[in-house]
Amino acid sequence: MQKIVEALLAWYAKNARELPWRRDREPYHVWVSEIMLQQTRVAAVCAYYQRFLSALPDISALALCSDAELMKLWEGLGYYRRARSLKAAAVEIMARYNGVFPGEYEQIRALPGIGPYTAGAISSICFEEPRPAVDGNVLRIMSRLLCSEECVDAPRTVKRYTEELAAIYPIGRCGDFSQALMELGACVCTPGKPHCEACPVRAHCLAFREGKQEMLPVRAAKKARRQEERSVFLLLCGDRLAIRKRPERGLLGGLWELPAVQGALDENAALEQVRAWGLDPLQLEKTLRHVHVFTHIEWHMRCFVIYCRETGGGFTWTTREALQTRYALPSAFRPFLTQN
Ligand code: SF4
Repeated sequence: MQKIVEALLAWYAKNARELPWRRDREPYHVWVSEIMLQQTRVAAVCAYYQRFLSALPDISALALCSDAELMKLWEGLGYYRRARSLKAAAVEIMARYNGVFPGEYEQIRALPGIGPYTAGAISSICFEEPRPAVDGNVLRIMSRLLCSEECVDAPRTVKRYTEELAAIYPIGRCGDFSQALMELGACVCTPGKPHCEACPVRAHCLAFREGKQEMLPVRAAKKARRQEERSVFLLLCGDRLAIRKRPERGLLGGLWELPAVQGALDENAALEQVRAWGLDPLQLEKTLRHVHVFTHIEWHMRCFVIYCRETGGGFTWTTREALQTRYALPSAFRPFLTQN
């Protein structure tokens, strides 16, 4: 394992991608980028990251921003709890550390929304601590380097790999080493068929030597996603459309949505539902379908586009312009708006 350190650092120095959050090692910047990058691709994060930092340039601005502004900045990124935890952590940093990001691993780990991976990334990149940032990418690399068939979803495997990595973290280059591992996992040692021909640590990789790289890592079987039928309503009245706020708790909590009910309604039942909301439907224009996939659930949606005589029904009736700027609408509903 010791042999991979120099090879990986030299490769990273030549091959690191230029990414907006790599321009400095300011903890706030690294923190925001790492939270955004959880469950989201680099290409998608870049624009969000720059917009977020323009609006909320420091911890104090994040701590003071309204929930509506925060959700709007996060709109489309998904996993909205990440954004709420960011703000909660910013509030805590203002209260406990006078607005200065704490430098100790244990203090960082104790902040809301920060797990061992993010704490390791911030500690190593910003504070040069030998704390590995072990995520799915790093687990995959480790299982291949060691040609190990231990399941990477088992806590004891994560612990073992974390300890093995901590033992080889190069003092003074901890941040580079964390980022080099992340880069290798993102660009070379990718899931499925890795690009071993371009790998700087190929000579030390046991899976490559045994031709087993595509069989690793071993993962636990995933549970099938629950499938839910939903009937969604794009209710239109003049230049306005109806939205409502979701309950604070649960999936997409506190965000806005198009009115919807559980189950697959037919067209007559959909019109009945609109009347049950106290509205007078003039015309069912068309229906649209869209499947949105969350981590544990799939929404199979049929959207009824219906013109109404008047606004009402207890909904918020907004223009499309206001929807763009003021209300955070999850991407699950966006396809129905772009098709209309
Ligand atoms: Fe991954 Fe292939 Fe490099 Fe081994 S040689 S670490 S499998 S990319």
